[in-house]
Amino acid sequence: MPSLLRVDEVTVAFGGHLALDSAALCAEAGTITGLIGPNGAGKSTLFDVICGLRTPVQGRVALGGRDVTRLGPARRARHGLARTFQRLELFGRLSVRDNLLVAAELGPDRRRAGQLVDDIIDRFGLAAVSDTSADELPTGTARLVEVGRAVAARPSVILLDEPAAGQDHTETERFGELLRALADEGTAVLLVEHDMGLVMNVCDQVYVLDLGKIIAAGPPATIRTDPAVLAAYLGDL
Ligand code: ADP
Ligand code: MG
Repeated sequence: MPSLLRVDEVTVAFGGHLALDSAALCAEAGTITGLIGPNGAGKSTLFDVICGLRTPVQGRVALGGRDVTRLGPARRARHGLARTFQRLELFGRLSVRDNLLVAAELGPDRRRAGQLVDDIIDRFGLAAVSDTSADELPTGTARLVEVGRAVAARPSVILLDEPAAGQDHTETERFGELLRALADEGTAVLLVEHDMGLVMNVCDQVYVLDLGKIIAAGPPATIRTDPAVLAAYLGDL
């Protein structure tokens, strides 16, 4: 079986600066893959390349074994890819329910959109805010709604860019359980996150990006003690 997501040798240059330098990774069905690295390492740029918002100088992206390098973002979405943004991208004046509904109606099963949204509101614990407009939500909750919106499109691969930022400890723990449940349904989850506790608890595999290069990859227990990773983080893990 090919990986649900496979990235090969991706290079991106901004002026003379290489934001990504031959970066490669895979994300498998039913697993959570972490992508960590210091600020400016290239994590969000890699997400942009994967979802088709930025064309790399070199490299390939494949979804389920199919090369999508030349496809635009909308066609990649139709191949089962969904993504959240580090900077929130909700419709501020729409309610939580309507934000979810917009995404669900664009997904593969339009007729069941209302039911799917009810289900997400329930799973994500959003009942109390379902009629609140998105721009009135605290950041942590807004991020949860963003993840819910990505899930509403029923993706097979989901990219999450710092989804737990602004969540407190209890919310983060709950969020970890949500991610695990998503993976258990067969989704390939790719998670960029600064909360190392969350990453180390929920991820099956972790890739470490530093200055545009993948410097380590493996299960959390290996990554935690990898000398190159410790050096990149100056002992922050
Ligand atoms: P991360 O998400 O890991 O913090 P980014 O992918 O946002 O890192 O950025 C990687 C590098 O590319 C940084 O040095 C950043 O300043 C640079 N960069 C990102 N986007 C742009 C852009 N649109 N134009 C120029 N440089 C950029
Ligand atoms: Mg980023």
